[in-house]
This record gives sequence, C-alpha cells and structure tokens, in this order.
Amino acid sequence: MTRQIVSVVGGKDAASASTYQSTNPARISEVVASVGMADADTFAAACRTAKEAQREWAKVPAPVRGRVIASIGRLVEANAESLARLVTEEIGKPYAEALGEVREIVDTCDFFLGEGRRLYGQTVPSEMPDKNLFTFRNPVGVAAVITAGNFPVAVPSWYLVPALLCGNAVVWKPAEYAAASGHALYRLFAAAGLPDGVLNVVFADGAETFRGLERALEEGTVQKVGFTGSSEVGRKVGELTGRHLQSACLELGGKNPMVIMPDADLDLAVEGALFSGFGTAGQRCTSLGTVIVHESVHDEFLGRFAAAVREARIGDPGQEVLAGPLLDQKFADRYEEYLTWIQPHHQVVSGETGRITPDSPRQDFTGEGGLFYHPVVVDGVRPDDRLFLEETFGPIVGVTTFRTLDEAIELANLPGYGLSSSIYTTDARNAFRFREGVSAGMVSVNNSTSGAEAHLPFGGNGKSGNGSRQSGMWVLDQFTRWQAMNWDHSGRLQKAQMDVADITPDLDFRLP
Ligand code: NAD
Repeated sequence: MTRQIVSVVGGKDAASASTYQSTNPARISEVVASVGMADADTFAAACRTAKEAQREWAKVPAPVRGRVIASIGRLVEANAESLARLVTEEIGKPYAEALGEVREIVDTCDFFLGEGRRLYGQTVPSEMPDKNLFTFRNPVGVAAVITAGNFPVAVPSWYLVPALLCGNAVVWKPAEYAAASGHALYRLFAAAGLPDGVLNVVFADGAETFRGLERALEEGTVQKVGFTGSSEVGRKVGELTGRHLQSACLELGGKNPMVIMPDADLDLAVEGALFSGFGTAGQRCTSLGTVIVHESVHDEFLGRFAAAVREARIGDPGQEVLAGPLLDQKFADRYEEYLTWIQPHHQVVSGETGRITPDSPRQDFTGEGGLFYHPVVVDGVRPDDRLFLEETFGPIVGVTTFRTLDEAIELANLPGYGLSSSIYTTDARNAFRFREGVSAGMVSVNNSTSGAEAHLPFGGNGKSGNGSRQSGMWVLDQFTRWQAMNWDHSGRLQKAQMDVADITPDLDFRLP
C-alpha cells in the first residue's frame, strides 16, 4: 500500500490543500508516497507554533539538548538501512552512497552532542578595574529551513542538528520529490523526545513556501532562513530575507572545476573525475563541472577518462553501480535541455548521449521504466560556452585545456560559482598557489570535488552562496547570536574610553 504522508506541525498532522505523488525514478510507475501538500497558511502557522515552542526549548540546558542530539544519532544509526533503502527508492541514489549519506547524519550528531557541553562564551578583560566582560551565544529563535532533494537527509541534518542543539525551533520544508525520506527523518528526530512544535515538517511547493515564508517574516516568527537549492531560487530567498533585515544561510549550485597539472598521477585523476562527475548521476552540488587539463597531458587523460566512463555501470541503484537514474522527471527534462547546449565545435568522447532505452542501451542495460541517462564527456569546451559557464546538474562533464597555472585558476573562477574545486598535482607549490587563487569555499588536492566531512566548513561563494558555512563549529554562527555583557562592580559609573588609566611612555627613548 502506498505511504500517505502529510505535514506535521506541533506534533499533529496538518491539513493538506493538494496531493503530490513522489515516485521512484528507477521505476517511474511506482509511487513511493502520496504527499499531502500544505499551503502558505499552514507554513506561516507552523512558524507561529515553532515560536511558541522555542521559548521553552531554549530553557532546556544545552548539555541536555545535546543528549537529545545523541539520541537522534543513535536512532538514525539503528534505522540506517531502512532510511538508506527509502532514499534509494525515492531518489535513485545507489544504496552504498545512500548509506554513506545516512552515516553523515550520525557523524553530525556525534559532533554536536559534545557541542552541548561546550557552546562556549568568553570572559574578556575590561579596560577598567572592577568590571567584567562576557560573551554568550544566544539561540536566534525560529529557523525556517528549505532544502533540495539530492541529499534528502544528510544536508537537512546539517541545519536541523545544530539549530536544535543551539536552542532554536525549526520549520523544515523538504523538496517535494524527496518528501518520504524527509518524513522518515522527521519521525526519527521526533522519537528522540523533542517536545511538540520544536521541529515541524511542512510539505509544500515552491510558490506556497515563498508566500508562507514572506508572511512569517512579516509576522516576526522567523529569525533565520536556511536555504539549500538552486542559485536562481536562492537569489529570491536572499532578496526576501534581506528585505526583513535577515541574512539567510544560502547553499546553492556549483560549477566545480578540476585542474590537472602535467605532473599529476593521471590514473588517480581519472578515478576522481569519474566519481565526482558521474557519482549520483552528476547530481551533487559538488559534482565535477569542467576538467581543466594541461595541454601536454590532455590526450592521454582524455583517452583514459573516456574509456573509464564508457565502462562505468549505470543501472538499478539497489545494485553495485556508479550511478542510478536522475532524481525526478523535472531533472530529466532539465538535463535533456543541457544536452542541447552541445555545439558543433564540441566532441562527445563518451559514446551515446541521452536516455538509456532498448534502442540506445548501455552494455546489456536497457533502462526501461526509469530515468536513466548515458554519462557524457564533452571535449573542446570553450570559456564562452553555456556548458562551461552554467551548472549542468546531471551526468555531463566538459573538458578544456590550459598552458599555465594562472590561466587554469582564471578558468576555474570564470563561471562565477565558488563551491568546490580540485587540483591533481605532485608539486606542493601548485597546490598552495591554486588554493590561494581559486574562489571556491572548498579545495581538494589529489581528491575529487565531492566528499565533504561532517566537521569541516561546507559552503560557497559567488553564485554558490553568500559566504555562510555549514558543519563543524562554523555553523554555530548561523544559529546563535553573540551577546556581549559588561558588569561593573566598582560602585561608580566608569566611562569606557574616558575613565581609563593612562601609563605615560617615553617614546623619545632610543638605544645608544
Ligand atoms: P530548487 O531551488 O528548485 O529547490 C530547492 C528547494 O526550494 C525545494 O524544496 C523547493 O521546493 C524549494 N523552492 C522552490 N522554489 C521556491 C521559492 N520560490 N521559494 C521558496 N522555496 C522554493 O533546487 P533543486 O533543483 O530541487 O535542487 C538542485 C539544486 O540544489 C542544484 O543547483 C544543486 O547544486 C543545489 N544544491 C546545493 C547544495 C549546497 O549545499 N550548496 C546541496 C544540494 C543541492
């Protein structure tokens, strides 16, 4: 029987205005969940509920909140296989990767359960006697979190876990096509004993979400917006929050470059390019966009890369494959448009392009019933091509060449994104010059563009985001506001800058 799911607000099922069918992209006739979709009113109501619940939650001592995070981690661990199976079923992510994604939630909980016993403030010396200065981290209030569905459980956990640990309440809006995975994650969080209303999940489409968020911001029930998704929608969310004097945490798209130097280990580079270009069918925000390879090793690299791509297994995501289907019909349609960006001056070196069908099979795989596509490598990409400049979410990688490292860095930065990047080299000087010059928030050396760890700052610049960072201690600045306190116990009014002791130096003093 098909799962029926609806939004949960204040611990209770909420009303739906319409229904959305979340389907299995490997077998599109299979409905994974029938999702009751909420409207803007429900979104705004959820923010009001969260605001009420947050007051009490903030009073729970941080180490106790940390214990709740510990329970979430244990619950996710105990349910890892079921959650990963659901992710595979709903978005077609190969099971091994889905299990890795679930592991990342556990890692995030492991990190933040300890933060409950730190969440440090500081004691700071005053410029006057008998006066003490302190800093405190205060929760921001209610966080509205809107997420994409390509990492339907790990990426949301990067927001939910630290936001809750810091004493905030959350209204979470998962992507429509990943609603069942989102609902399952919500249930695991709720089972850890979070009081009703502290975490709410609302299923809604983009337009209703935007209207609901606008209303909540006008009503003053949201103090932080977290958005993970496309640069296009991120811009709108950023504008809306800016009008309400808030800075959203924007985690957006990428056009992630991989530079291959003449001294690179080419086998390693091929392996890295294959995984970051075509793992999750190229649908990670950190997926490889363009290989920028030194002209002296271009032919050798391209030959090996094209051969590896031709041999890579695409198919049933329940099996051992490099990639399964595209996430959803919306992504398949968009990907087919990206394929029209291939121009006569390009050379496709990977074989067939387009949908895998009985007429266009891949080895013995005919792709029937699913959104499976041939992985594509396009050589001869130029800096003014759309293929070079724009994110192409899906299994397509461009290749271009360079002569000097400075030129490679310029090409890496040209599209104006700045999420992830990678360089393959055996010379430390190249690695550090690249790190310094590249605009990306994340740099890999002799490693693929993807594969973030849960305790390093994650985030981008330019079209990839507004400089906010998730994960590790850095995300605490998104979900807390610093409060400074000064306490004068001198019994007098001591005025800063004016009543400060003066010690007179002899600045004319010189050594003989
Ligand atoms: P999207 O921007 O279409 O949707 C993301 C979320 O926003 C969904 O929940 C959607 O329902 C909602 N939404 C859509 N329109 C909205 C609006 N007007 N107001 C408010 N919410 C709205 O993104 P997508 O196509 O689902 O996801 C893929 C994109 O996400 C890619 O660009 C990818 O690179 C990016 N992404 C970035 C990161 C990161 O951490 N930087 C991680 C994962 C995905």
